[in-house]
Amino acid sequence: MIPSHELAFSRRRLTPVQIGLLIFIAILFLANATLAIGAFVNINATNDAFAGGYLVTDLSKIQREILRLHLDTQQYLLDDEMSIDALRLRRSLLETQIRQAIGEISGNVQVLDSINEMEAELVQFDRLLADLAIDPSPERRQAAVPEFEVMFERLELEIISTTNREDARLFETIGNALNSQRNYQTFLLTLSSLFLISIILLILSFRQTIGLDFDRAYSLLSQELSERKRIEVELVSARNEAEKANQAKSEFISLVSHELKVPMTSIQGYADLLLDGAGGPVSEDQKRFLNTIRGSISQMVRLVSDLSDISRIESGHLDLEFDRIPVGMLLDQVASANMAAINEKNQDLVIEVPDELPPIWGDQMRLVQIMNNLVSNAHKYTPENGTIKIRAEEDDLSEAGERSMIQITVEDSGLGIHPDEQAQIFGKFYRATDEEARINPGTGLGLSITRYLVEMHEGHIWFESIFRKGTQFHFTIPIFQQEND
Ligand code: ADP
Repeated sequence: MIPSHELAFSRRRLTPVQIGLLIFIAILFLANATLAIGAFVNINATNDAFAGGYLVTDLSKIQREILRLHLDTQQYLLDDEMSIDALRLRRSLLETQIRQAIGEISGNVQVLDSINEMEAELVQFDRLLADLAIDPSPERRQAAVPEFEVMFERLELEIISTTNREDARLFETIGNALNSQRNYQTFLLTLSSLFLISIILLILSFRQTIGLDFDRAYSLLSQELSERKRIEVELVSARNEAEKANQAKSEFISLVSHELKVPMTSIQGYADLLLDGAGGPVSEDQKRFLNTIRGSISQMVRLVSDLSDISRIESGHLDLEFDRIPVGMLLDQVASANMAAINEKNQDLVIEVPDELPPIWGDQMRLVQIMNNLVSNAHKYTPENGTIKIRAEEDDLSEAGERSMIQITVEDSGLGIHPDEQAQIFGKFYRATDEEARINPGTGLGLSITRYLVEMHEGHIWFESIFRKGTQFHFTIPIFQQEND
């Protein structure tokens, strides 16, 4: 047997490979995230490096302004085509350019030093120009040429070397930044590929686990199926056994009842003969004893025939012989069979049957048995001087498209059945616990046989009872119709 708690899809643990892969994936994820942050920071550094380009541009602008100032100065000194004011304007343009470069320097000491150098040279320029403003004669200007040239040479050397140095530095910084950017990208690409491969491996491994689970579920299912088949086979054979045992029991009961009936009939017959005086005069005491024997024997006869009926009903061997039965005749037969007992308890028996009641369709002997059971119960469970009524009436159901029935009621003014026990009353061997009812002998089989017999006639049986007031049993039997013949 497969234990019910065993699940086909177990909540299985992760395999060591899966745990390893998960850890690896987690590490890769962290590494990827760190690298991505690094790459982002590095992009900023690269941007900063490119920003260094502004300074180089400013320096080259200074260089261009110095050259222009140089040319304009030469023109002023040699050709007299340039005014001193125009030269001063050019000088101020250079100054503006220098101020702009200083704004871009941001801590570059070397550039700041060279700008200071240049500013010092320009102080020299301003001084020479101031001298010329005082004496701008051609001779004086001619004489100032060498001084200006030396100054411009130093100025130009300074700016060229500074620009070149900054150029080289800028290229190096940008190169480095781009290099590390490329490294970051290579790393990121490698780690991402590893990440992807690990996830694919993990998925494959899960798929394999799920596949194993399916195999397991399949084998559990087939085990369960074969187990069920085995149980089914066992059940069939158990049912066969039970049927055989039941059959044997029925055969045994019918054999025993037959064997008992013969001696019981003879005991009853001899008791009757003795009571009739066939064996000589009988004293009062002997009469009492003989009556007790007769009473006990009829109880035994009843019990034996009830047992044999139950066993035949259960084994499906009880057959009915259907015939057309006049209800009045049936009730007379029942009344005369029970009359002696009813008179003994001084009870009244009232029979109400309409004259023109149609005949019913049933087995005469079994219908008498049904009625006898109900009337003898009414008699048994009704105290002395009580009343028993038997009524028959037609239930015309033809309009409702159903078979018309005769409803027969056996009513008594007896002990009644306690509401708590009414549901069980038709059960096999059931007898009410009511002490007063139990004084009467009984087997608890009568009503269950009666119900079987009524239903075999395609009728219904039911009752209403008020405890200590009385009971009404009703049952229906189909009316005889021409086509029944
Ligand atoms: P029994 O052989 O005990 O009479 P029955 O199957 O005929 O068996 O009846 C089952 C029980 O139903 C009886 O033991 C009795 O307690 C109760 N019973 C049946 N008919 C009546 C009735 N007319 N009035 C009161 N109780 C009844």
